[in-house]
Parts: sequence; C-alpha cells; structure tokens
Amino acid sequence: MGNLNFEMTNIETDKLAESGNDVNPIKTIIKASPYMQSYERLLLENKAWAAEKVADDPDFFNRLANLQRPDFLWIGCSDSRVPANEITGTQPGEIFVHRNVANLVVNTDVNLLSVVDYAVNHLNVKHIIVCGHYGCGGVQAAMTKRDYKPVLNMWLRNIKDVIRLHEDELNAIENMEQRVDRLVELNVIEQVKNLARKSSIQRAWRASGYPHLHGWVYGLKDGLINTVFEMPAGSPVDPIYELDDL
Ligand SMILES: [Zn+2]
Repeated sequence: MGNLNFEMTNIETDKLAESGNDVNPIKTIIKASPYMQSYERLLLENKAWAAEKVADDPDFFNRLANLQRPDFLWIGCSDSRVPANEITGTQPGEIFVHRNVANLVVNTDVNLLSVVDYAVNHLNVKHIIVCGHYGCGGVQAAMTKRDYKPVLNMWLRNIKDVIRLHEDELNAIENMEQRVDRLVELNVIEQVKNLARKSSIQRAWRASGYPHLHGWVYGLKDGLINTVFEMPAGSPVDPIYELDDL
C-alpha cells in the first residue's frame, strides 16, 4: 500500500500550485489524482472532511469523543443509496444505526437484538425508525422463486412470510413495480410490529414511556421519506405477544 500522505506526481503538484487559494488543499489533491485507487480516495476524502469539521467547529470531535446521546435508532436497508445521516440531514452523534438487507427485525438475530438492547436500555433512545426504500432489491428477490442458496435464502424467507400474510392484497396489484413497492411498505409495517412484540420494548414502554416506533419508506427517485406506520409507546400489540410479568 502506498503512502497516502501525498505521493504526488509533478503534474499533480503543479496543478496544486495553480489552484492557489483553494480552500481545502486535500480536495485539490483528490481532483488532481485521476489514477488514485478508489479506496485511497475514501481516505483522502476523510482527511478533507475532518479538516472541514474542525474548521467549522473546533470542538466538534472532542465533544463527540466524550459523549454519545442520540435520540434515534435507525434500522435501515444496507442499500448504499440510503445513508441514514445524509437523507435526514443529521450529524454524527444524532442517530444510532443498524442496517441489514431489507431492514428486517428478526427475533433470533443477535446482532440486531444487541443493537436494540443497547439503544433502548443504555442510550435511552426516544424513537426507533424502521426505514425501507421503494425498489428494494431484497424485497424484489423475495418475491421470486429463484434459489439464492443458503444464508440469503434463509434471510429472504422472512420477507416471504410477509408476502404470505398479505397475499390477497399483493396479488390484487397488477403492476409489478407497484406490487413491490406495496410489499416494501407492508414489510416495514411488519418489522415495526416485530419490534413491538419484543418483551424488551414492552418493558421499556412500561418503565419510561419510550421508545416510539416509526415505519418509514424512502423514495430512491425523489429522495423523500414517506411515513407509513406509527406505534407510539404503549400501543396495543397482538395479545399472544403481550407479556404479563414484565
Ligand atoms: Zn433495500
């Protein structure tokens, strides 16, 4: 791996000199280095970003290094086009994030359960947002009969269960794109309900009146979030999941 601290060619340094009063010299290096490896660009962009943050707010990193107190837990899709902070205009420190394929809440997923437990019981988040997105590839894959082989088949099976629950409504939608998008919404609703079925969420509701649960769907085509479902803390859940001795 090359030294990232600026192995510049003569051409690159000339271009840098020409740029004169450019605000951020690292940005100039990035522009002047067309043959840079893609991952090297990420590391240089990181240096530029850190420098800009400190220029705007000298105490930014000191403050965040000492304290994390987000109000929100975000459970989103791993899709690279749906970054939680960017689409909500939030900063580091504001949203605790978990992402997986098709934003599922599976009650045997130790990774997700650990994130929810930490967010609810230690960070005391006030809101949990399950955010899907229209055109989700994971949701589309689950609608097919294609064999994606073990692990992916296991994961997509959870969405097939949502399809089975809502088969009549989905089959009545003739346009396939619209059918996928409705399933994206129904999947988000089911995942929010899965959260409410968890005893740890019900226990938190009783103890603190938080967190409120939200089901959102992001539009890849317009960048806008559609709110499709809400479960305020204390909402009724299917009786079989409502535990007495919390
Ligand atoms: Zn997706």
